[in-house]
Amino acid sequence: MAGSEAAFQAAEAGVQVVLHEMRPEVKTFAHHTGNLGEMVCSNSFRSDDDEQNAVGLLHWEMKQAGGLIMNSAYAHRLPAGGALAVDREAFAETVTAAITAHPNIRVSHDEVSELSGEGHWIFATGPLTSEGLGRAIQAETGTDRLAFFDAIAPIVYAESIDMDVAWRQSRYDKGETEEEQKAYINCPMTKDQYEAFIDALLAADKTEFHEGETAGYFDGCLPIEVMAERGRETLRHGPMKPVGLTNPHDPETKPYAVVQLRRDNELGTLYNIVGFQTKMKYGAQKAVFSMIPGLHDASFARLGGIHRNTFLNSPTLLDDRMRLRSKPNIRFAGQVTGVEGYVESAAMGLVAGRMAAAEILGRTMPTVPQDTAHGALIHHITGGAEAKTFQPMNVNFGLFRPLEGLRGGRKGRRERYKGYTDRAKEAWQEWLTAQGLDLRAAE
Ligand SMILES: Cc1cc2nc3c(=O)[nH]c(=O)nc-3n(C[C@H](O)[C@H](O)[C@H](O)COP(=O)(O)OP(=O)(O)OC[C@H]3O[C@@H](n4cnc5c(N)ncnc54)[C@H](O)[C@@H]3O)c2cc1C
Repeated sequence: MAGSEAAFQAAEAGVQVVLHEMRPEVKTFAHHTGNLGEMVCSNSFRSDDDEQNAVGLLHWEMKQAGGLIMNSAYAHRLPAGGALAVDREAFAETVTAAITAHPNIRVSHDEVSELSGEGHWIFATGPLTSEGLGRAIQAETGTDRLAFFDAIAPIVYAESIDMDVAWRQSRYDKGETEEEQKAYINCPMTKDQYEAFIDALLAADKTEFHEGETAGYFDGCLPIEVMAERGRETLRHGPMKPVGLTNPHDPETKPYAVVQLRRDNELGTLYNIVGFQTKMKYGAQKAVFSMIPGLHDASFARLGGIHRNTFLNSPTLLDDRMRLRSKPNIRFAGQVTGVEGYVESAAMGLVAGRMAAAEILGRTMPTVPQDTAHGALIHHITGGAEAKTFQPMNVNFGLFRPLEGLRGGRKGRRERYKGYTDRAKEAWQEWLTAQGLDLRAAE
């Protein structure tokens, strides 16, 4: 997704591109063909609503920028309600044909396993980056900066947490500043609530790992349901331990267990449920997590998961132009940067391709505006996210800077989302126009 889009954007800008693809010679456990743009699982690019949905907005922005992935998707669209689902074979064939026929692109079917210090490179090798290249990246960045599995705890919109039940406090009020002493949001449970929660966890539907996906898994990222299977008290002595906390809504009663949420972005709009990585199916997660007091009406920016997924600690490694700080002739794009999903990956390819082309051609590229969906994602992965707990992220409105003067909560949601998408569209048009003027000026 990202590699094809990046190659196409750079080639359209007039740069000569070599696209290296290791398939079909070197295989992955998820791909089945040698085609570019192969969708490894679902055939959906998710919601196409560009007014009320952040991924729909990303579609819109990519379409405006002449994105190959989006245009190929619209060309092979299948009926799917409000979603953009496609005929996957026709889609991949269209992407492959557009790349191979492009006069500025040469496709080379080989595996790249070093980070060269020469030339301009974009590495868009995805969640299943080959082993050899993974080793080369670790050698350059340090072994702890490249993960091979994600362990995603669910992420909740802060505004949807019921603060009449929950409260802000770090364990033992640790921290120098008041902000640090109140860094966590705590949700208390009684014994009955805890027992019912454990029963629901044990009974919930879970997803299975794909064949070939599990090598090297269980190092320190046990799903909560596996912890619960090891003993009904395990969670109460692990992520749900009730110690060092006093509930200001009921200071005399010690909670039997506490679920903690930790801030997930600089804006403070998103909170992750600490230690709650899970393989429960999405429907089950919503049902089980809504049993947590304070999260009855929670809206989720993303649900939890654990997958085979190679990704960088981008907030520490990449600059805001997606270049490796230690070797700026190298860019990364796609899922390996810590975005998640076909659309987000292709979107990062789109901007990386344009940025690389501008650099090669000596043109100025204005910064991608933070208020666009592309800009919100780049900002998150290269700086807005907490580096210590960095995990892959889908695009969502929690990554957008809040709009002043609009109503919060569920009731204000339609108006707020329309406000975000209107603001984004204007900023994106300006960004594209600035590049158009820039290109004309250079000709
Ligand atoms: C099993 C599985 C299921 C998924 N299901 C979905 C889903 O349903 N919906 C969704 O939105 N996302 C899904 N994803 C995430 C999905 O992979 C990404 O969203 C998307 O494909 C990532 O795009 P990308 O361009 O970053 O990587 P990819 O599309 O994976 O492209 C990377 C390419 O780089 C090649 N490559 C890797 N290493 C090298 C090397 N060293 N040299 C040369 N070539 C190399 C690979 O062969 C691959 O073609 C899934 C991922 C996996 C692993």
